[in-house]
Amino acid sequence: MRKNIVAGNWKMNKNFEEADDLLFDLAESLKDLELENEEVIICPPAIYLEMSTDVGLENNFSVGAQNCSNHEVGAYTGEISAAMLKSLDVQYCIIGHSERRKYFKETHDELAEKVNLLLDNSINPIFCCGEVLEERESEKHFDIVKGQISDSLFKLNKEELLNVVIAYEPVWAIGTGKTATSDQAQEMHAFIRGLLSEKYGEDIANEISILYGGSCNAKNAKELFSQKDVDGGLIGGAALKAEDFLAIIQSF
Ligand code: PEP
Repeated sequence: MRKNIVAGNWKMNKNFEEADDLLFDLAESLKDLELENEEVIICPPAIYLEMSTDVGLENNFSVGAQNCSNHEVGAYTGEISAAMLKSLDVQYCIIGHSERRKYFKETHDELAEKVNLLLDNSINPIFCCGEVLEERESEKHFDIVKGQISDSLFKLNKEELLNVVIAYEPVWAIGTGKTATSDQAQEMHAFIRGLLSEKYGEDIANEISILYGGSCNAKNAKELFSQKDVDGGLIGGAALKAEDFLAIIQSF
């Protein structure tokens, strides 16, 4: 049975002291939480990964990075490899977030390389996809998402795909306070599961967690997570305060 997941993407927020405080608050909130089929993932800036995995191990949450290099090793100043993440016991890594696609011009092929390197290092990619407003308004959103998924994921075999989490994040909803309606989210999530089913079969498709991201918060999470194909959320702004994040986790 696929897992319900809430993943918090801290992006480039928090200095060391603030990050330490937030980890402490999260640990306090999460340590006694009864999680059955749910998993909580914290994705802090890379510089805080080591301290986060230490806290996470004892307090009911997994840790993910926000990006990794598409190169294995070598002269790539400033980059962090999948193998380095593995050596810190990082379990997940966000790949293809729209901010990286936009500001760092990441291509479908580079994202496929990152996914492969992560899987080689037993790290689960959280693969982001989603359309910009113009693409939705011109009704190209299904084609865009199909292209993103097929170009970066469809060379994987079934066993590899089973380690991937997909996050549908309509770009027009990220950080804007404008959320997709639960119908819009369900429609796209069902479409994505259908694509996976066509390529890998229904049994595999039903095992893949598909998260919604885009201004998800304590008020709208319950409605979104109650949709059949919405298996949780990738949370930005609302992951920066332990109490807001906890309320989202409790929305299942
Ligand atoms: C995100 O960046 O992945 C995200 C969903 O951000 P927010 O929740 O702030 O819209």
